[in-house]
Parts: sequence; C-alpha cells; structure tokens
Amino acid sequence: MILVSSCLAGLEVRYDGRHSLDHKISKLIEENKAIPVCPELLGGFSTPREPAEIIGGSGGDVLDGKAKVVEKSGRDVTELCIKGAYTTLNKAKDINATVVVLKENSPSCGSSMIYNGEFIGEKIAGNGVTTALLKRNGLRVISEERFADNFDEII
Ligand code: SF4
Repeated sequence: MILVSSCLAGLEVRYDGRHSLDHKISKLIEENKAIPVCPELLGGFSTPREPAEIIGGSGGDVLDGKAKVVEKSGRDVTELCIKGAYTTLNKAKDINATVVVLKENSPSCGSSMIYNGEFIGEKIAGNGVTTALLKRNGLRVISEERFADNFDEII
C-alpha cells in the first residue's frame, strides 16, 4: 500500500483551500493502491490556514528542537507540525506503507526542497517535518515529481 499526500489526491486541504491534484496519484486511490493523508490536518490545522515555513533549518532540525515552523504572521506552529508527523508515521506503519509520496516544497511534506523561512518564495534543499520523521524511521519518501519519473519501478 502507498501513502500519499491528500492534496495530490485532489482533496482541498492545502493552506489556501485548494488541492494539488496529480492524476497518477488519484488513479492509485481509485484502484485501492493508495491511501491519502494530510499531516497538517492530522496535527490540528484547519483549512484554509496561513502559509507556514521552517525557520532555522529543515524538518530534521525541527524534530531535534533546533528549528521551528512559523506562520507568516508569526505564530509558532512547530508542535502542530510535529504532532502531524507522528500521526502520519503511525498511519504509515498501520498500513505497512511500501512507499510514501508527499507533496514537494511543503514544510511538512517536502522531500527535496522547502521554502527558506523568509516568505519570499525562495527554496532551499531540505525535508519537511513529516518527511524527516518518516525517513528516520526507514520509510521511503518521494515527491510527486520523482514518483512520476519512477512510476514503473514503484508500481
Ligand atoms: S502538502 Fe502535505 S500538509 Fe500540505 S496540504 Fe498537502 S498533504 Fe497536507
């Protein structure tokens, strides 16, 4: 079974109330090969919500208490993101996920790039908080872009 970001499955759970539909992903859901999850909703966020970015590092640093996740207006949402990450990890274990496909660039779900914490649209290399936790626990996490490039090998 594959765990996928809910927004990639077409669910309107993004911070701006929209989705990031990826047809390869939604097809997997239809075929009962994948289950959607939104770490931020599991952490207690609602939709819509303010955009948030990691300040002072990447997802692994957040887990280690060396960086934080902050909304644009300044609210510290680190604990919500960490709660969402652990709940997602439990879900991945429950379904014996073989691979997890998460939305690139998100402070929770990014797996190659995240925004740099200045809210100016600039990205840096790094994992989101959920991705970092899943990888630390031995799960294979890839972005929707890498999933598309490696579809035949993964499915
Ligand atoms: S990127 Fe992750 S946390 Fe953000 S809306 Fe999509 S599934 Fe939820």
